Amino acid sequence: MSPHEESVPLDPPDWEEFKALGRRMVDDMADHLAGIRDRPVWQPVPAEIRTRLDIPLPRTPTPAEDVYEEFRTTVLPYPRGNIHPRFWGWANGSGVPVAAYADLLASLVNCTLGSGENAAMMVEHQVLEWLKEAMDWPITGSGLLTSGASMGQIVALAAARQAAAGAEDIRGGGAVADGRQFTVYGSTQTHHSIEKAVELLGIGGRYFRQIPVDTGFRIDTEALRTAIRRDREAGHVPLCLVGNAGTVNTGAVDPLEELLAVAREEDLWFHVDGAFGAFAQLLPTHRPLLAGMAEADSLVFDLHKWLYMPFDVSCVLVRASGALENTFSSSADYISSTAQGPAAYSLAFSDRGIEQSRRFRALKVWFALKAHGIESYAASIAGNIDQCAHLAKLVDGSDRLELVSRSDLNVVCFRYTWPGAGPDELNRVNRDVLSRLQTAGEAMPSHTVIDGRFVLRVANNNHRTVHSDFDFLVARVVELGDELVAASR
Ligand SMILES: *Cc1c(COP(=O)(O)O)cnc(C)c1O
Repeated sequence: MSPHEESVPLDPPDWEEFKALGRRMVDDMADHLAGIRDRPVWQPVPAEIRTRLDIPLPRTPTPAEDVYEEFRTTVLPYPRGNIHPRFWGWANGSGVPVAAYADLLASLVNCTLGSGENAAMMVEHQVLEWLKEAMDWPITGSGLLTSGASMGQIVALAAARQAAAGAEDIRGGGAVADGRQFTVYGSTQTHHSIEKAVELLGIGGRYFRQIPVDTGFRIDTEALRTAIRRDREAGHVPLCLVGNAGTVNTGAVDPLEELLAVAREEDLWFHVDGAFGAFAQLLPTHRPLLAGMAEADSLVFDLHKWLYMPFDVSCVLVRASGALENTFSSSADYISSTAQGPAAYSLAFSDRGIEQSRRFRALKVWFALKAHGIESYAASIAGNIDQCAHLAKLVDGSDRLELVSRSDLNVVCFRYTWPGAGPDELNRVNRDVLSRLQTAGEAMPSHTVIDGRFVLRVANNNHRTVHSDFDFLVARVVELGDELVAASR
C-alpha cells in the first residue's frame, strides 16, 4: 500500500449504513413537518441544552447516528419558529419542503458556482431567466443569486457607482480619488442594509439621505427633490435613489413610478428594494401598485421571504447587461479562460459580484419552481394578502384592538388598547402581551415602534398560515391584554 492509501477516509465506512441513516432522517423530518402545527412555535433554549452546544473541538469520531440523535434533541426542538404556521415575525419565510431535498442534492454534487462549464452554472442561469420573467424584467438585463438582499444592495449600489464613475477610475483609484462626494436617497423607512452598503462603499453613511415619509410611510417626493437640489448646490454628486417595494416596518410601497421619473430627470440610478414586496408582481391585482419597479436600474428580492424558499437565497437584477461585470470582473492567471474544456465557458458569476466560491443555491429554486409552478406560489402570496386583510378586519372590529398600520401587502401592525389608557401603560401592556404569546410558543408576531407606539407586527410570508390562525391570534391578544390590565388594577 502506498502511504496515501492508508489515510483516514472521510467517506462512510459502510454505504448501507449511510443510506439507512439518510432514510431515517428523511422519515423523521417529514413527520416533523407534518406535525409542525402541534408544536410550540418557539421555546427558550434551556441552560442544559446551551451547555451541550458549548463543548471543546471534537478530536475523535462519534458515530453519525449519535450525532443525528444529538441534533434531534438539542437543535430540532428549539427552532427560530419560522416553519410554524403561526410565525409572522420580522420578514422570515417558511420554506417549501421539496426545496430541502434539492439542498441536499446541491451539497452532494458540491459544485461551486463561480465560473466554468457545468450544468450547475446553467441551472443558475436558468433560474435568473425565470426570475426576470416573473418580475417582468427586460430580457437583456442581468443578475446574480446572493445570500440575501443585504448582499444584493451592496452589489447593486457598487454597480450604480461604477456606472456613474464613467471614465473616472473608481476601481483603481478608490472612492474619493476624483474628489466627488456621492449621495444616496431613500425614505426614513429604508432597510438598514442600504445604509450598510453606502458605508461599505466608502460613500459615507451620512451621505445616505433619509427622506421623510407621508402618513402612509411612503417617501415624500417633494422633500426628496429639495434634498437633491440642496446636495447639488453644495457640490455633491447625487448617485442613487432607493425606492421601497414593501418597507420592513409597515409594508409600505413608495410611489415607484414617481421615483422613477425623479431618477430619470435627475440622472440617478434607480434601485428598488423589493426584499419581500417584489413578489406581489406575480399578482395582476398588485402590479399597478408596483408600477415602475420593472423599469428600475436594479432590483433586489429575497426568495427566502415571500417565495418561501429555505434560507438563504436572494436575487439582484440589473437593467444594463454588463453593469455587474464592469463593476466586479477581474482577471488572474489562475482563472483565465482556455479555448476548450470547462474554462472555455464565458459566463462567470464570480464576475458579477463579490464572492468567488458560491454555493449551488440555484438548485433548490430550480427544483421547487418546477415542482410547484409559479402559479402555486402566486396563489400562496395572494392567500397571505387575503389573510392579512382578514386580520385587519378582525382588529378593526374589536373595541380592544387598534389597527396602527396595514399595507396593501402582507404587513399589519396593531395593539391592544382599553379606554383611558395612557401611552406608557399601553406600551408596557403590549410588550407583555407579545412576550407572553412568544414565550408560550402560541404565536410569533414580532414588534416595531410606530410614532412612539409599541405595536405587534405581523409580516405574513408563511405558506402554512390559514385564516383561522389570525382568529386565534386576535382572541389571544385580547385575552392576554384583558388579564394583564385586570391584574394591574
Ligand atoms: C429582509 C430585508 C432586507 C435584508 O435582506 P436579507 O435577506 O436579510 O439580507 C432588506 N430590505 C427589506 C425591505 C427587507 O425586508
